[in-house]
Amino acid sequence: MFFFDLHCDTITECHSKDKSLFDSDCHISICKAKHLDRWVQLYAIWMPDEHRGCDALNYFDAVYERFKNEMAENSLYIKQCMNSQDLDDCLSQGKAAAILSVEGGSALAGSLDRIDYIFSLGVKLITLTWNASNELGYGCLVKNGGGLTAFGKQALRKINELKIVADVSHLNRKGFWDAADLSSAPFVASHSTCAAILEKWRKPSDDKYFSLLRSLDDEQIKFIADTGGLIGINFCGSFLGDKGDDGFEAVYRHMSHILDIGGEDVLAIGSDFDGCDINAELAGIDKIPDLARSLERRGMDKKLLNKIFFDNAYSFFKAAMS
Ligand SMILES: [Zn+2]
Repeated sequence: MFFFDLHCDTITECHSKDKSLFDSDCHISICKAKHLDRWVQLYAIWMPDEHRGCDALNYFDAVYERFKNEMAENSLYIKQCMNSQDLDDCLSQGKAAAILSVEGGSALAGSLDRIDYIFSLGVKLITLTWNASNELGYGCLVKNGGGLTAFGKQALRKINELKIVADVSHLNRKGFWDAADLSSAPFVASHSTCAAILEKWRKPSDDKYFSLLRSLDDEQIKFIADTGGLIGINFCGSFLGDKGDDGFEAVYRHMSHILDIGGEDVLAIGSDFDGCDINAELAGIDKIPDLARSLERRGMDKKLLNKIFFDNAYSFFKAAMS
């Protein structure tokens, strides 16, 4: 089976809990992925909201160092891809392809030059904010947050120029529409789910309120689809449904909704592995074939499943990394 995943926090987990990428109890490890014939994984350096300025730069560097070391130690099995040729070479050699991303524009510490720096390290996707505000804009949990800041707009222009993919997961709705007005390239929501499905299926709770702020409404889904972007379905339990109703059936519901609103080309996977609590049915990269089989039983055909699990994201990143 082929699998392309737009988001995981595994490298951050390797750093903070000293886990090994090769073999561990994490959702993702090289050993757990051995059943995959082709595997492309975006590895996010997650920027916690308590780090800003110099502290954020140091934190980024420490996690990046871990990423680099894991790539070197596991070079027989996995390789970081800097461009689309790398991606194809890597896959044809039977290795897993790693693409580096940053979850949180605080990694720029308010400096446009930092975009050149992280680009030189091979960062191909930047999630503009995490849940709080940063120099670029306001995350989904900021009460009465504004749109992108002046620096956020300058940063997005430069991100576009360097052909880094902008990611709007975690961004608030005003920021989303600012990015939509400004971006000269399609953007992605790397790990998000659908507000309409949560509205309909989740019981009222504070948790539901948070999950609604963190998800995409139909207008956003339509915009991303119409402009050639991608939406990766997040496996985080509370973003899929209520506890106990956050497994395969819930994934099917969110996927079906995106297919209805946005069509077949926009849908992908952004597992959020090692970044959140996930229902046991979905909790690990070794569960991906089971998910595909369950979706097939629910009526999705093989061609569509290939698009969702690999082809859509592969075509998008082949173009973005060319
Ligand atoms: Zn996230």
